[in-house]
Amino acid sequence: KMAVGKIIIAGNWKMHKTQGEALEFLTVLKSKVEETDEAREIVLCVPFTTLSILSKSLHGGKVRLGAQNIHWEDKGAYTGEISGPMLTELSVDYVVIGHSERRQYFGETDKTANLRVIAAQRHGLTPILCVGETKEQRDAGEAESVIINQLQKGLVDVDQSNLVIAYEPIWAIGTGDTCDATEANRIIRVIRDQLSNKNVTIQYGGSVKPNNIDEIMAQSDIDGALVGGASLDPVSFARIVNYQ
Ligand code: PGA
Repeated sequence: KMAVGKIIIAGNWKMHKTQGEALEFLTVLKSKVEETDEAREIVLCVPFTTLSILSKSLHGGKVRLGAQNIHWEDKGAYTGEISGPMLTELSVDYVVIGHSERRQYFGETDKTANLRVIAAQRHGLTPILCVGETKEQRDAGEAESVIINQLQKGLVDVDQSNLVIAYEPIWAIGTGDTCDATEANRIIRVIRDQLSNKNVTIQYGGSVKPNNIDEIMAQSDIDGALVGGASLDPVSFARIVNYQ
């Protein structure tokens, strides 16, 4: 199928893996993606503590690095935060922003996500902005309006030529309860309608596994995946990257 945007398959490790575990993972992954089509971008969004060691081992390879957060200031009194210059120094190319776990547990809002997206772009990083509805919002028929609102607020003053959106229905994250592929495609079309640049890569995320990636990627408007749990095992992540 023809993707609309560039195809990007990203792993989101969340708070998993020490440096040793990360290197072990990479050795196996590298051996399994040697033949992968160059048109498929492979990204690992890892904890800050493994960025450095992975950036050294990835040098010149196929796999790109992503972080899971970025502060909007370049430096300052922001205990616990990491800035753009700290990430670019480690050859990071992508950064996940506004993930539902950050929104739920760490006070991320559409406004702070927007500031982080702008900061990422200022430093030449590609933001992966996450949007998605809860089960309650979906059941109330509000999925579209919630997502449109997240996009409108999250994309203020954002350059859409360097942007990835991840549609992650919250009820599908870490639950094994994948959003039906055609329904994910329908929502992703709603998202695309909101964008001025129609070629933005829009990923699906939420219980993506080796056994459902083929159907997900066969959809007309889904340009990739943001993979949590199944990205922790190099064999299953490689199978997802090498979808049919
Ligand atoms: P999951 O996580 O694949 O484990 O559902 C996806 C995500 O939160 O990005």
